[in-house]
Amino acid sequence: MIHRPSPEALSAALLAFAALSAQAADHAPHWGYKGHHGAAHWAEMDPAFETCAKGTRQSPIDISTTVKEALPALEAQYASTTTTLVNNGHTVQVNVPAGSKLTVGDKTYELLQFHFHTPSEETLKGRHTAMVAHFVHKSAAGELGVVGVLIQPGRPNPAFEPVFAHLPRPGEKITVEAPEIKLADLLPAQLGYYAFEGSLTTPPCSEGVNWMVLKQPITLSPAQIKAFRRLFPANARPVQPLQGRVVRESL
Ligand SMILES: [Zn+2]
Repeated sequence: MIHRPSPEALSAALLAFAALSAQAADHAPHWGYKGHHGAAHWAEMDPAFETCAKGTRQSPIDISTTVKEALPALEAQYASTTTTLVNNGHTVQVNVPAGSKLTVGDKTYELLQFHFHTPSEETLKGRHTAMVAHFVHKSAAGELGVVGVLIQPGRPNPAFEPVFAHLPRPGEKITVEAPEIKLADLLPAQLGYYAFEGSLTTPPCSEGVNWMVLKQPITLSPAQIKAFRRLFPANARPVQPLQGRVVRESL
C-alpha cells in the first residue's frame, strides 16, 4: 500500500516548506553536480563544507592497488520492513526503521538508509559501473559505516522493485508498506569487500567514515536504471586522491 499525502496535508506541508525556504534562502547552499553548483565548488558554497576541499580522507576513490588481508566478515542481519522513499533533490533515499544490523568484527552498526548514485561513485581500476547503492550505517558510538554495492545492467532485480516501482518525484516522500522490502535480498550473495577510510561523498564531506565496497556487483534491469536516470541523470562526485591511504581487500 502506498500513502501519498492528502491534498490538505500536502498544502500544509507546502506552506511549512515555503516558510522554511524563505527563511533558509539566504544561507542554504544549492549544491549539485553540474557547473557552478558542481563538486569542484562545494567548499566555496558554505564554510561548513570546507572539508570537501581541505580533507585528506575524501570519498569516493578509485579502487586499484589493494592489499589482501583476512578482514572480518560482514554479517548483515537485515529485516523485512516498511520503508520511506524520499527524493531529496540529490538522490532517492530509502529510510529504514530501526532493527537492521551490520556486524563487522567487534563493531555493530544499525542501518539508517540507502540511496543511489549514477554512474557509480567508486571506480574499479578507473571504470565506473552504471550505478551504486550506498547503505549507510551508524554504530552506537556514532561511527558511520557505509557499504557500497556496485550495480550493473542485467536481469531485473525483484528485491529492488518496491523502490523502483515508486521512485518519488522531487520533494516527494512516499511510505511503502506493502510489499515490504526484504533488505537482506538487496545485497549480493558474496560479501567480500574492499575496505578504506573515507568521507561522506556529499557536503559537508565529513571524514571518519568506514567504507566497505562489495566486490560482487548486483544487477538492475536497464529499465530500472533508466527510471532512476530520468530523475537523476548524473549524481556522482568524482573520485578523490588517496593521499597515502591503503585499500584493503578481503581474501
Ligand atoms: Zn552515497
